[in-house]
Amino acid sequence: MNRPFGIYVHVPFCAHRCDYCAFATYADRDHLMDAYVDAVVQEIEWAREKGLATASSVFFGGGTPSRLAPEQLLRILDALPRDADCEVTVECNPEDANVGRLRAYRAGGVTRMSFGVQSTQRAVLADLGRRHGIMAHEQVSRAVHEAGFSTWNMDLIVGSRAESLEDVRATLDDLLGLEFAPPHISCYALTPEPATPLGQDPARHPDEDATADAYDLVGATLEANGYEWEEISNWAKPGHECRHNHVYWDHDDYRGFGSAAHSHEHGRRFWNVRTPDRYIAMVRAGESPLGGEEVLDASTQAFERDSLALRTRHGVPVEAFESLDEIAHLVKVADGQVTLATQGRLLANQVIVRLKSSN
Ligand code: SF4
Repeated sequence: MNRPFGIYVHVPFCAHRCDYCAFATYADRDHLMDAYVDAVVQEIEWAREKGLATASSVFFGGGTPSRLAPEQLLRILDALPRDADCEVTVECNPEDANVGRLRAYRAGGVTRMSFGVQSTQRAVLADLGRRHGIMAHEQVSRAVHEAGFSTWNMDLIVGSRAESLEDVRATLDDLLGLEFAPPHISCYALTPEPATPLGQDPARHPDEDATADAYDLVGATLEANGYEWEEISNWAKPGHECRHNHVYWDHDDYRGFGSAAHSHEHGRRFWNVRTPDRYIAMVRAGESPLGGEEVLDASTQAFERDSLALRTRHGVPVEAFESLDEIAHLVKVADGQVTLATQGRLLANQVIVRLKSSN
């Protein structure tokens, strides 16, 4: 059987910039959308001429893919070579989740949606600089169900200074109490990236202990409600795992299209130029928009494979470590495999540096 092959499409447009976000995305470039879609389709055509593999999964991320009109996004999707049962995910802002848009996606081949809900608590959303309302989870859930999607995700963020453990509990109650609850939930710890308003205000930096408590509550609650822990930040009901995530976690090959998109193929990592302006200009001039590349030697590949696997519920063989003595409190060992214990999930880096392949 062929190995999975993922395709990522970067959409670098947002309605406004959230306080904590360091992604390659822009709130003042909407006038470039048409030209950007043309350039991405052109980049895909060039790749196809050079034998681009058929995708087992496609992921539109960003940025905010739902800033594009559905027909623009579907023009890109139509240009991509896909397996007959290809998983196609689109990240969508809760504000954009109307039934008409979601139906258009579904009719065009999108199979899975992902929504950045983050919290259902007003003060937390305000602190994160998010603009959707506290009922967004209900609206999203109704719309996604009405549009006929059977699998989808909601993202949460924990660690805002405005968030108490009660807020986390209330958010989880809200999500799990939905008539059509999301079958996949991701939960990320807020990170103060240096070049963001949040990063530059130490008073707003997350408290590590409070974040760990919030994360533990999320994991324990989801696991008690039929979600299986899949990877540090991801939980899914059985059968609702995200195939595209597994491409990354299993260190399989993937190709990225669009500005700032990263690729990994045959031990080589490469990425496109960061801004959409430059990306469009290069493609229009008939040039490859390549921004940089590196070839991974065998030991780097082994370390990447181990550290990615260690973050998942499959873990790594016990032989991947010289000794577990100093990290015994952070891991579990069963059937010869080492996985992160709950208390090790937020401290994964302390375990990863003990891998033999890290030397
Ligand atoms: S919507 Fe997402 S990508 Fe856009 S600024 Fe906010 S966090 Fe960043």
